[in-house]
Amino acid sequence: MKGLIFSVKKYSIHDGPGIRVTFFMKGCPLSCMWCHNPEGISSFQETVIRTKRIGDREFSNNEEVGKYYTTENIIEILDKEKVFINQSEGGITFSGGEPMMQIEFLREALMTCKSNGYHTAIDTSGYSSAENFKSIIPFTDLFLFDIKHLDEKRHIELTGISNIGILDNYKLLLESGKDIMVRFPVIPGFNDDPDHLERLKQFLTKTKTGSIKKINLLPFHKIGSSKYKRFNIPYRMGSVEPPSGEKMKLMKEFFRETGIKVKIGG
Ligand code: SF4
Repeated sequence: MKGLIFSVKKYSIHDGPGIRVTFFMKGCPLSCMWCHNPEGISSFQETVIRTKRIGDREFSNNEEVGKYYTTENIIEILDKEKVFINQSEGGITFSGGEPMMQIEFLREALMTCKSNGYHTAIDTSGYSSAENFKSIIPFTDLFLFDIKHLDEKRHIELTGISNIGILDNYKLLLESGKDIMVRFPVIPGFNDDPDHLERLKQFLTKTKTGSIKKINLLPFHKIGSSKYKRFNIPYRMGSVEPPSGEKMKLMKEFFRETGIKVKIGG
């Protein structure tokens, strides 16, 4: 079985504990306005034109986005990084896009990585069927679970889909007892108003179990904005500025009231 992957990041320290190898998988059913991985949205291989400027000259070449990997390819990559992974108590993370979109491959890859002794994590929007999540729970050590907005109507406006199934899956994973890190993307003017922050704090406090290892506050940034042109997708966040460091520190203190560890960044 093969999975379509658009990027492999070695020595990753923001996608779970220790040093990890993160595989970014193609395909996402959401269309978050702030997405910084637009190359992960389409489920297909794509060819884009990459332009580089050197001095006053521009050079363009075609770039293939998305390459097929077998689970054996993944293990080969991990085995080469084994020393760093083991010494740092790291592992492998499947991110995207939305890794649950390639559930058959994901399940096989998680199962194979676990049986080879690697700590496994997935970074998910939470959007998939409950059955799909149940099928990978035994092979997944950690879920990095995004909560983008608690209000269904606002969630649809911001991401194109309802959050009802997502929140049901969050509860399902909580009941499973597996480790969870909640990831909240802080998007100024979209989900950081005091009412929503209070509602989110109450929600996290009420649903808290020992499985929740951390809340990651992920400040909005524009690092991926230049990719939009390449993928012919309109960038809708041009007028939004990243939250200040001071604001993020205050938010960190605010969410610490949940009793859960809070970190700014992944
Ligand atoms: S869930 Fe992630 S990958 Fe998908 S559109 Fe949103 S930010 Fe992008």
